[in-house]
Amino acid sequence: MTDIPKRRITIFGSTGSIGVNCLEVLNEFPDKFTVQYLTSNTHWETLLSQAQKFKPQAVAITGIKPELSIEKQFKAAGSEVWWGYNGLNEIARQENMDLVINALVGAVGLKPTILAIEAGKNLALSNKETLVIAGEIVMQKARQQGVSIIPIDSEHSAILQCLFAEKKESIHRLIITASGGPFLHRQPETFADITVAEALKHPNWNMGRKITIDSATLMNKGLEIIEAHWLFNVPPDKMRVLIHPSSIVHSMVEFIDGAIKAQLGVPDMKIPIQYALSFPERWDCQLLPHLDLSEGLTLEFFPPDFQKFPSLTFAFEAIKAGGTAPAILNAANEAAVQLFLEEKIRFDQIFIALETALENYPHTTRPDLDQLLTADQWGREFVLEKFNEF
Ligand code: MG
Repeated sequence: MTDIPKRRITIFGSTGSIGVNCLEVLNEFPDKFTVQYLTSNTHWETLLSQAQKFKPQAVAITGIKPELSIEKQFKAAGSEVWWGYNGLNEIARQENMDLVINALVGAVGLKPTILAIEAGKNLALSNKETLVIAGEIVMQKARQQGVSIIPIDSEHSAILQCLFAEKKESIHRLIITASGGPFLHRQPETFADITVAEALKHPNWNMGRKITIDSATLMNKGLEIIEAHWLFNVPPDKMRVLIHPSSIVHSMVEFIDGAIKAQLGVPDMKIPIQYALSFPERWDCQLLPHLDLSEGLTLEFFPPDFQKFPSLTFAFEAIKAGGTAPAILNAANEAAVQLFLEEKIRFDQIFIALETALENYPHTTRPDLDQLLTADQWGREFVLEKFNEF
């Protein structure tokens, strides 16, 4: 038997919800992977225990000031510490890794994605904001460099699986499913009363705070529409969203002959994470029970209420407008979610913030990366300044 060299894995954002799940999956396959680099924003103690277990060569800590005492503890575990976003970007440029998993949350994920692509590294992408802000540039760079971008997002993982061995011309439309979040049946007149605690309770998925709020507003689905547009090169009129409260069907593809392929499974991110690692193969998964259809399964689907959740309309409009619009939408959303989590604005004001930002942004067609980053900054500041005083 010949030894297959282990793939060297880097995780940006290893202490977040996706990052922790990634390490759990990697831990199942010690003969296939080694962990090369890990990064965290502020959770250095969790990062330290990860370093002790997985022995990365170096870690980056982006969100706290350099501290010798912390460095010493990592050194004892065998890992160097590289500080700040410079440290993170330095990791993105390293040669000695085979796959970069980007599990960062928000626009901060864009720069390291681009650096990793420029360094010719294949990517497993959980950071959807990368594609929302700069999808055209990122996908173009990936093609030029011959690197693959495998989605970790469960909907996009499902679509990737449904499209396996299919031709692009055969696609009638992508059907992206949404759980509908915790406020699916709540009267919109009471949206102003929604508390942070209520919004953080997702019925099916256990996720980080930002994405949980995005799921409650359905903005997450809006961002996923934009993500799917760039990943699969499908226009917005060939995509639809269906509410599917049990999150068993992770998404579907409808073909021109009327056939529909769907991917089903228990709603747990370890499945799409493992698929991103095993793609195009499949590996035995011991971490989760399989879905037992003999127990009886009722699948319910219905269209979303665009009036109640205007975030979906904003996302479709942003793709059609192109240019800087999706970057503005994303930045405005990040700022609005931050203000809501800090209890500075109401839940319903998140929608107002998005709408106002989209109405007021300076439109640029075919923006370069700098213009996109400027738009990102503009959208963020616009919402923080305009809505902070409420
Ligand atoms: Mg998703």
